Amino acid sequence: MGQPRIAIIGAGMGGLAVAATLRRFGFASEIFEQAERFGRVGAGIQMMPNSMKVLRGIGVEALLRERAFQPVSHLNRDAYSGEVMRELPMPEEAYGAPYLCMHRADLHDALLAAVPRESIHLGRKLLGIDRRRGTLVLRFADGTSAETDAVIGADGLHSKVREILLGPDQPVHKGRIAYRAVFRAERLGGFDIGPSRTKWWGRDRHIVIYYTARDRSELYFVTSVPEPAEWLTPESWSAKGEVRDLREAYADFHRDVRTVLDACPDCHKWAILEREPLPRWSEDGIVLLGDAAHPMTPYMAQGAATSIEDAAILARCLAETKGEDPQAAFRRYEAHRKPRTSRIQAISSANTWMKGGTYDTSWLYGYDAWNADLDAPASAAGEDLVAA
Ligand SMILES: Cc1cc2nc3c(=O)[nH]c(=O)nc-3n(C[C@H](O)[C@H](O)[C@H](O)COP(=O)(O)OP(=O)(O)OC[C@H]3O[C@@H](n4cnc5c(N)ncnc54)[C@H](O)[C@@H]3O)c2cc1C
Repeated sequence: MGQPRIAIIGAGMGGLAVAATLRRFGFASEIFEQAERFGRVGAGIQMMPNSMKVLRGIGVEALLRERAFQPVSHLNRDAYSGEVMRELPMPEEAYGAPYLCMHRADLHDALLAAVPRESIHLGRKLLGIDRRRGTLVLRFADGTSAETDAVIGADGLHSKVREILLGPDQPVHKGRIAYRAVFRAERLGGFDIGPSRTKWWGRDRHIVIYYTARDRSELYFVTSVPEPAEWLTPESWSAKGEVRDLREAYADFHRDVRTVLDACPDCHKWAILEREPLPRWSEDGIVLLGDAAHPMTPYMAQGAATSIEDAAILARCLAETKGEDPQAAFRRYEAHRKPRTSRIQAISSANTWMKGGTYDTSWLYGYDAWNADLDAPASAAGEDLVAA
């Protein structure tokens, strides 16, 4: 076959990352994205050392370092007393790459810079995939179509490609939402949230707070709080939130948290959704990646990170078949990746990561997708950690 034609559905974190990792191995790809343009959604994102290694390999680390904040640790505190429950230092040498916190749009922009602009086709919402004489034909909502040899479905939690492979179903919503906001630190009136990424653990809710800019000029928080399920409709996966409701939900939290929420000008709320591990990720030249394959709750900050890990492994598997057998490459990719992402989905769902104890974290942050053994399952935690 030689160089296969590769189509990527979705220009989110995973789609752009895999376009960039494929380029590293000499494969071109075409990316089809439903959005007409990319917006700057008000959210931060943590990039852990495991994904930073991949980002380093595609040449975007320097760009991220210019803007991002580098926390000294994961700090876990009791929401009411402020007592430190656990602190995990995050020096670069511990896991072979930095831990960076940034605006989500800064990560997206950096990934965009690693992909040729002309390969990204905006306003192309995938509706279906037909198979005609060994070729895959993509059908888009604007009436256009495109032919390809392989499809990477990086189209997120509500993936159309997943639906095509496995049939329709709904993600799991356990009645919790995330309030999120990014705003200027000068609104804090001189208060410093500190050099760590801090998670404040309450009885049935939490909040994570960190700077998103290297010069500490901008900060972000994300919560998890119960919300009646009736709020959730497919049209409202994300919506404007009421700051008043948010402050009320955290009224009994530590003064430092209240200081941040009092300074917050406005916020959005997002349904927290997940899925059980899927029965399979690929078929007949079509494969899933990122949230399309393994959506998880955000509690371990590993959703985008694992999407970016996927990107390096998928490109390596394709490169090893010299692009001649995409389906064999996809099977190898799934066999390597699924044990790890399924474990992370489970721990993330339980929301136990970093709550207490002193267990091993190297399997998570030390993983190196460029050098991992493709014929062995990717490193995953032991059973004990789900209940830790
Ligand atoms: C509150 C919250 C906080 C989070 N914090 C972190 C964090 O700190 N660290 C971390 O690693 N992860 C975090 N995550 C998870 C992370 O945001 C996701 O895992 C990540 O964005 C998944 O990337 P993706 O490329 O698979 O999907 P997405 O980023 O969702 O991208 C999918 C793309 O596909 C496009 N698309 C969808 N359908 C179609 C279609 N039919 N045709 C064409 N295009 C289509 C979409 O428009 C979108 O651009 C968080 C998530 C939430 C909800």
